[in-house]
Amino acid sequence: MNAKIILLPGDGIGPEVVAEAVRVLSAVATHGGHNLKFTERLMGGCSIDRYGVALTDEVLADCQASDAVFLGAVGGPKWDDPQAKVRPEQGLLALRKGLKVFANLRPVKVRSPLIDVSPLKRNRIEGVDILVVRELTGGLYFAQPKERSITPEGYERAVDTLEYYDYEVRRVADIAFRLASDRRKKVTSVDKANILESSRLWRQVTTAVAADYPGITLEHLLVDTASMRLLIAPRQFDVIVTDNMFGDILTDEAAVLAGSMGMLPSASLGASGPGLYEPIHGSAPDIAGKGIANPLATILSGAMLLRYSLKLNAEAEAIERAVDRTLEKGFRTADLLTAGERAVSTREMTEQVLHELE
Ligand code: NAD
Repeated sequence: MNAKIILLPGDGIGPEVVAEAVRVLSAVATHGGHNLKFTERLMGGCSIDRYGVALTDEVLADCQASDAVFLGAVGGPKWDDPQAKVRPEQGLLALRKGLKVFANLRPVKVRSPLIDVSPLKRNRIEGVDILVVRELTGGLYFAQPKERSITPEGYERAVDTLEYYDYEVRRVADIAFRLASDRRKKVTSVDKANILESSRLWRQVTTAVAADYPGITLEHLLVDTASMRLLIAPRQFDVIVTDNMFGDILTDEAAVLAGSMGMLPSASLGASGPGLYEPIHGSAPDIAGKGIANPLATILSGAMLLRYSLKLNAEAEAIERAVDRTLEKGFRTADLLTAGERAVSTREMTEQVLHELE
């Protein structure tokens, strides 16, 4: 297997965790006789510093011509001025739109060695295995108009638009149902249909899609109820499908179940073309440059890349097993510490995953 992979390490801890995950991907590729060609490009704050924009047309074109895109994280205090015209996140949004990756898969798995890292009670979270499918190229993050103005009375006014088309809901719901077919056969669609018109469309379309999947149970939940149930009864969820903003917020909440933001990977997929793989966490400026970031979310994103873009399922599972064994043996980066353990560095954690892979 030959594959071209574009690396966008980005800012903060992005380059630290991407470098480690690439070592793991390279080890797996060498072992399996696969030729993965990695090409590094700038995106985010580092691209603003160099080119004045968060994502250049050339980098987007390189990504579009690749087999997969592997991203770290973007942003940081240096580019945080709310008045700024160019912002690192613009690169992320342009990349998602440019690659047409409308379905963002975020698995939330409570790994048994980490149960006590979560502040939630063991009996609540044991065995939790949720797949959140977040709509990624529509809704509040993209719809127009987005604007700021001053009213004739002198008030400052800001507008974001929440808009969904039926086809946008249908295609992401379809992916959620397909993924549920290989899991525990339940889809929970999360919306705010008691208030929002776009949510009423969301509910109508997901209900229609469910008719194509008679073996799968569909439940609808309001986002406020869903956010509470995620904490009090998380095992009741199998696949969750939801809109762009609800998915963003609910998965940060779900990271508490898994023990740390540093544990959650993601894959963003479209109907065809390269997938985009990245940890769900940000650039963590508070720990950047210290060599202590948890690389596992990025390493697990690498496993998703192998599974979804390169169809190397056995290799993906080998990485996931190596991560589990590393945790079972008690290796913990600082974000995963409970009382009395010694923290390992980003590099040491990866070394152990590589050791377990062997
Ligand atoms: P963050 O996810 O960067 O960090 C939140 C907390 O989790 C911090 O305490 C951080 O140290 C910790 N954390 C995150 N990843 C970790 C890891 N791998 N190992 C150990 N600890 C980890 O969120 P934030 O602090 O709200 O945002 C920081 C910057 O990242 C901002 O500029 C924000 O815009 C950006 N951001 C980028 C993305 C992305 O690139 N996809 C996503 C979210 C936030």
